[in-house]
Formats: sequence, C-alpha cells, structure tokens
Amino acid sequence: VMTPEQRAELKERLRPQRGIPFNQPDSLTRIYAVASGKGGVGKSSVTVNLACAMAAQGLKVGIVDADIYGFSVPGLMNLSVQPTKVDEMILPPVAYGVKVISIGMFVAGNQPVAWRGPMLHRALEQFLTDVYFGDLDALFLDLPPGTGDIAISVAQLLPRAEILVVTTPQSAAADVAERAGAIALQTQQKVVGVVENMSWLEQADGSRLELFGSGGGKLLASRLTQTVAAEVPLLGQIPLDIALREGGDAGAPIVLSQPDSAAGVSLLQIAEKL
Ligand code: ADP
Repeated sequence: VMTPEQRAELKERLRPQRGIPFNQPDSLTRIYAVASGKGGVGKSSVTVNLACAMAAQGLKVGIVDADIYGFSVPGLMNLSVQPTKVDEMILPPVAYGVKVISIGMFVAGNQPVAWRGPMLHRALEQFLTDVYFGDLDALFLDLPPGTGDIAISVAQLLPRAEILVVTTPQSAAADVAERAGAIALQTQQKVVGVVENMSWLEQADGSRLELFGSGGGKLLASRLTQTVAAEVPLLGQIPLDIALREGGDAGAPIVLSQPDSAAGVSLLQIAEKL
C-alpha cells in the first residue's frame, strides 16, 4: 500500500511533461542518450568526444550529464565554471563549443550525491526545461550505467531520444549492456547503434592484443537488432589508447587534441555516422 506521499511522487513522475523545447513537434534536434550496462566502459569519454567532434564540424551541440551519482563530464572537458542565471533561465557553460550542464556544477567540491529516483527525475527535468540550450543540432545525454530510474525518466521526458549503447568486447559486458538497450523496446525508443570500446591494444609490432576478448560489440548489435526488431548497427570499435585516458584526465578530448591517435580516428569515424 502506498502512502499519500508516495502516491503524489508517482503521480508527479507519470504526469505528461510539457515545455521541453526538444520535444516540440518541429524540433530537428537529434537526441542521443548514451547508455552502458556497467560503469567504467568509457561511456562518458565516448559521449564527450562525439559531442566535441560534432561541434568541431560546426554543429550546435549540447551535453546533459545525467550520470547524477557519477558525473564526470565537467572534468573530461576541463570545465570548472558555474552556470549563470538570467531571469529564471540557467545558461550552460560552454567548453570546446559544446554547451554543458552537469549536477557537478551545482555541488560544492566533490560531494557525493545521494538522491532517490523522484529527485533524479526532477533534476533531469530541470536540466531540460530551465537550462537554455537554444536551438541545438544534437543533444547528448550521458546516462548512468545500468537500467535505472534515469533511463525511464529519459523515455518519459524525451521520447524522441535515441539510445547509443557503449560496451567492451567482453561477452559478459555485452550481456548487461543488452539489458540497458532492451529498455528501449519497452519505451519504444530507437537504438541508434552500438559502440565497442577498449577493443584492443596495438602492440609495437602492429599486432592487436585483445585484452578484453573480442566480439562483444558485434554480438550486442545483433542481439539488439533482434530485440527491437530493427537494424542496430555496430558503429565502430575504439582501441585502448593511452592518449584517450590522458586526454580525459587533462580535460582535453582527443578528437580535438590528438585527432590522429588510434582512438581519435575511430571516434571521428563514429561521429560521422551519427
Ligand atoms: P564510464 O563513463 O563508462 O564510467 P569513462 O568514460 O569514465 O567510463 O572511462 C573510464 C576510464 O577509462 C577513464 O579513465 C577513461 O579515460 C578510460 N578509458 C575509456 N576508454 C578508454 C580507451 N579506449 N583507452 C584508454 N582508456 C580509456
């Protein structure tokens, strides 16, 4: 039995949402919700690099860091400024031409965020309604790993969002990622494709060391194709690359700082396909 409070919370969550500009029928903004089954597979690194690659091509791009508990986008983009407030609108800081909003910009220091589902939903809703992104060509959402509350909120708040699933080549990782992608079937969202990250490490002699096995991305793409009964392509494979990790730590996305690196080339090719 639900308490009146819980009932009110549920009602609030299921209330049809209005006023999000990206949901206007004439909106041309492509919305990419970047998902993964588990953490540490490179979801945020992929999000940031794809967004920066598109912005470098002259597109108007935004990122919503919806990984509320594990926000990392500001660090990956060397962003430490606070958003400014004009009237009731929040103006998102811009890095590398990309407009970015993250819960990390609202918490002091590196405090953990301990919120429950309904609060997460409200935070995301506020990011989408109160933050002035203007007219965007592409909006990226960096989702938390797994199939949690946020994935459902995204489906409710942004029904037009297309899911981009990031996995490693390991079949176990592909299994959990499949669950993340399969949520799209329930929410009737499009799965735009699979990105396999950490696919191999290139050796000095040019050979590839497949540290995490192989085939996870391809397997996941074909399984998701069956699950959602629509073609889900493997958009690309990104090798392990020290440059990518260094670029992340320095807040300098490699598609801009080291576009000729192995991972940089691969990320730029993936961005072309979106
Ligand atoms: P997630 O968002 O899935 O938790 P991150 O993007 O934060 O993952 O990546 C986790 C760590 O792995 C980061 O330190 C990142 O720099 C590193 N990393 C991700 N992809 C690669 C790669 N292809 N090569 C080297 N390091 C990588």
